Amino acid sequence: MSAVRHSLSFMDDDLLDEILDEVQALAEQLSGEQIPLLFEERARGIAPGAPGRAAWLTHAGERWEMEGDLVRAKACYEEAARDGGETYLDPRAEMLNVLLELDETDRVDEVLADLRRDLQAGWEGRHVHEMVGESLELHGRLDEAMHWFSAGLTHSQRDDPETVDLGCLNGRWRVRRALGLPHDRYDELCEERRREYSATLEDETRLLEDEKRLLEVPTGTVSAPLTVLYWPKEELDLVLDRWPTAAEHCGSDHTEHRARVEQRMRDLVGHDGQVAVGLGSLEDYLHFARSRGEESLDASTRGMYGAHLAYTGRFVAWPPGRSDRCWCGSGLKYKRCCGALRFDG
Ligand SMILES: [Zn+2]
Repeated sequence: MSAVRHSLSFMDDDLLDEILDEVQALAEQLSGEQIPLLFEERARGIAPGAPGRAAWLTHAGERWEMEGDLVRAKACYEEAARDGGETYLDPRAEMLNVLLELDETDRVDEVLADLRRDLQAGWEGRHVHEMVGESLELHGRLDEAMHWFSAGLTHSQRDDPETVDLGCLNGRWRVRRALGLPHDRYDELCEERRREYSATLEDETRLLEDEKRLLEVPTGTVSAPLTVLYWPKEELDLVLDRWPTAAEHCGSDHTEHRARVEQRMRDLVGHDGQVAVGLGSLEDYLHFARSRGEESLDASTRGMYGAHLAYTGRFVAWPPGRSDRCWCGSGLKYKRCCGALRFDG
């Protein structure tokens, strides 16, 4: 059984990270079908069962899915599952969405039973409950989705009662609202977590209010999106080197930074008008700031720089489609990257 090998095999996280980096780099250089074709080629260069093969096949499946070729995506996921090697995310859980799209309900039920069995046998199953719950939710199987989200909460708490799977907590909240179910203690916890998170971001909200005013200059003709300033990975490293205290508003590492930007974007959902992620660069920022007699990364200069990025077209529209490439440039699907932490309905 493949999943037993998943749980017992040596967890080579370094290898998976290396592959993820390569996936990202290749996705930037290539386009369209070239990407999954090359990923498949990488997989074929590795012996069945050897480290890396299943991971490349799973990334190829994700890419075919993004290209809209669901049949080929399924073939890659199935092959990865049969291979049984280590992957970043489980290919069967990834495949579920494709199977549901293709209406292959018998195979859906087989995969669900398979995943349940492995989880009962003690498999860790990184993000599996959340992925399965989301796929079922997207296809209207709400009762089952709720079951998976709920199971994910108890699963994440089995070793440490304080650990809560936020993806499952949010998913469960959404599905329970859709089903018209009354609030329970997990729903309370979910809303409490959101309030805590929003409170840490109040400063950023004020900054956006300033930018909003700047964008609404009474020319009446300029149409630029409201942007949230985002530093790509290398740029964030440079920013934090130069201003270590910037961690307070940017986040202390790139993962935290991306989560914050994503949350800012979601907070803007009610804004009437286009919203976007502004792509900052330190060199450009310094040039911009100095032209205004500034040297620091203070809130008002950041706000003006955000507006500047909007006017000069350096932004990515938000939100991407759930299966489109993530706005952060990782090369992963939005729903598997920054879109994974959803607080909205
Ligand atoms: Zn992302």
